[in-house]
Amino acid sequence: MLPSLFISHGSPMLALNKTPAHAFLRELGKRLSPKAVIVVSAHWESLSLKVSTSAKPETIHDFGGFPQALFECQYPAPGEPELAERLAELLDAERVERGFDHGAWVPLSLMFPDAKVPVVSLSLPVRWSNQELVALGERLSALRGEGMLIIGSGSLTHNLHELMPQDSPMPAWVDTFANWVSERLIANEREALLNWEHAPNARENHPTPEHFLPLLVAMGAGGEASQLHHSVEHGVLAMDVYQFA
Ligand code: ZN
Repeated sequence: MLPSLFISHGSPMLALNKTPAHAFLRELGKRLSPKAVIVVSAHWESLSLKVSTSAKPETIHDFGGFPQALFECQYPAPGEPELAERLAELLDAERVERGFDHGAWVPLSLMFPDAKVPVVSLSLPVRWSNQELVALGERLSALRGEGMLIIGSGSLTHNLHELMPQDSPMPAWVDTFANWVSERLIANEREALLNWEHAPNARENHPTPEHFLPLLVAMGAGGEASQLHHSVEHGVLAMDVYQFA
C-alpha cells in the first residue's frame, strides 16, 4: 500500500534549481510506482470541493517574475477522467476542467519526469474546518490500496513577506514552528495538529493558511507519520516532506 505524502513545494524555481529538496524529490519518485496520483495543491483554492476531469491537463504557469526557462516548462502527464468521475461521486465534488498549477506540476515533474503517471487534481476547499480536511483525506485513504498516490502539496512554513537569500539559515521563529509540527506528527498528536493555528509562531509562518492545509488532507489519508526530508530555502521556506504510511 502506498503512503500518502505531504510535499513542501517552496518556490516554483524548485523545478530548475538543483537544491537538496530538488534532489530529494527526484530520488523519492524512483522509489514509487503509483498507478495514478491524486494531488491537492495550495494553489487551487476553492469554496466547494472540485475535481479536475481534464484528460490532457495543461501546465499552468501561475506565477510572475521568474526566468523565461520556468515559463517554458511543460508537464504533459495525462489526467484520468474515469478516476476523476469516481472521486466526484465519492466526495460529492464538482467536476471542472483544470490544468496543473505549479504546486502540482513542479514536484511531480521531479518525481515522475517521464510524465507517464496520470494525475487527477482536487481543489483545496479553504473554508472547510481542519477536521473536515482531515476527513477528506480519510475518504481518500482506501484508494492507496489500489495503487493511488495521494499528495498534499503546500509548504510547511510559508511567509513570503520574509523571504531571504536562497542559502540563508532558518531563523528561530521558523525553526520553532517547523519543529512543533514535526514533533506532533511523529507523536501522532492529531488533536494538537487540528489546532495548529495555536502552535508557536503559527501566524508568522502562515499569514494565510492555504500552504499548511494540504498537510491535513495528507495526514487524514494515511497512517503513521515520518519525516522523509528536511531542508530550508530562502530562510523561511521549510522544504520538509512527510509520508503517512
Ligand atoms: Zn506555493
